[in-house]
Amino acid sequence: MLGNGKSDTMCPKGHKDLARAARSVPEGHAVSDFPFFTINKRCGLARVGVIHTPHGDIKTPAFVGAATRATVKALTMRQMRELGSQAILANTYHLILAPGSDLIEQAGGLAEFSSWHGPTFTDSGGFQIFSLPDVKITENGAKFKSHINGDKFEMTPESSMRDQWKIGADIHMAFDQLAKSDSHADMEAAMHRTHRWLDRCITEHKVLLGAGGRNLSSEGPKTWASAPERPEEDRFGQDPRPEQYLYAVVQGGIFNDLRAESARYCASKDVDGFGIGGVFTADGMDEMLKTVNSILPENKPRHLLGMGQEPIDLFVGAEYGCDTFDCVGPTRMARNGSLYTYDGRINIKNAKYKTDFSPLMPDCDCECCKNYSRAYLHHLFKTDEITAKVLASIHNEHFVVTVTDNIRKSLLNDTFEEYKKSFLSRYYK
Ligand SMILES: [Zn+2]
Repeated sequence: MLGNGKSDTMCPKGHKDLARAARSVPEGHAVSDFPFFTINKRCGLARVGVIHTPHGDIKTPAFVGAATRATVKALTMRQMRELGSQAILANTYHLILAPGSDLIEQAGGLAEFSSWHGPTFTDSGGFQIFSLPDVKITENGAKFKSHINGDKFEMTPESSMRDQWKIGADIHMAFDQLAKSDSHADMEAAMHRTHRWLDRCITEHKVLLGAGGRNLSSEGPKTWASAPERPEEDRFGQDPRPEQYLYAVVQGGIFNDLRAESARYCASKDVDGFGIGGVFTADGMDEMLKTVNSILPENKPRHLLGMGQEPIDLFVGAEYGCDTFDCVGPTRMARNGSLYTYDGRINIKNAKYKTDFSPLMPDCDCECCKNYSRAYLHHLFKTDEITAKVLASIHNEHFVVTVTDNIRKSLLNDTFEEYKKSFLSRYYK
């Protein structure tokens, strides 16, 4: 199985000081001794690199698991490690509604709370909030009602930063205004507001960095340096890092002139990386990414937000300079019985699989394909067994993680073009 071997080095449960300890800079070193992102190889706009986070390294390009509510649906964190996942992305909107960012801070942060103990991202919450029906947008922020119980909330750039610091992911996204419109003027207005909000996010992020970031709701800031030494065996094979990191989010929708303007604005700011967000069409994605990633500074990582359900998005994203991807699509489709194979997606509930005793995908080494037949999966789905969703999610998540890993390997071996061509021609016929 493709994996990063991290399952052997999981932190023991209940050790709440680990995340904190990881942030102290060792004696005799400076923060600058530990670069956040290193590039090992370039191939046009594409690159192979490593993002170094306080909770471990991410070899890029990489597919990041969508752990919206601090869990990847139907999967345990051990299963996520075993299927080869390197990082997870949780959603600030969902986590402030339940269980609340204070509680996650109390638990020791997202990695400790969820028992993932590896690299973590949080989305700002903007995408979900601006998709709600009754959201009210002002220059200050967004007012909305909880979809769970109707409670009223207001999220501002500052509150999003504070909530993300409490949640404690390694990489945070700036709070952006998502606009869904065909109008250039609407998108331009949303982009300019996103830029003004980015400035406020950066200011707040720096305040939090100075305060040590955590314990915002308790007696006062504590420094990472006061935490106990992290045991060697609990490390993820990299040096301890001192900070949490902020990505600016490039907006502009389907308009490449706005994308270019947004990329220039974000590039000029003191941030650690970039999310590429908002709504765009799959057809125009290559041109949009070419525009944006030719402008963004090369030495900082780029995350393509919410993309990766279709394998072609991973190829195009990597080819045009994106380093990480996340998408709820693979596990959502899995729960509905729509499963990836190298010959395209199949619906396992289809009657023709009732007596098909072959593995779902013979050349896949995930737990599902190594042990179970299509007939068995078909039976589990038809009888609505919970295990159906578990096995299907293991396979689909393993599939996208593995395809992205193989893209990385093909870039290293100078075989990307051949791999892309053979994969896509077989998958999409
Ligand atoms: Zn499989």
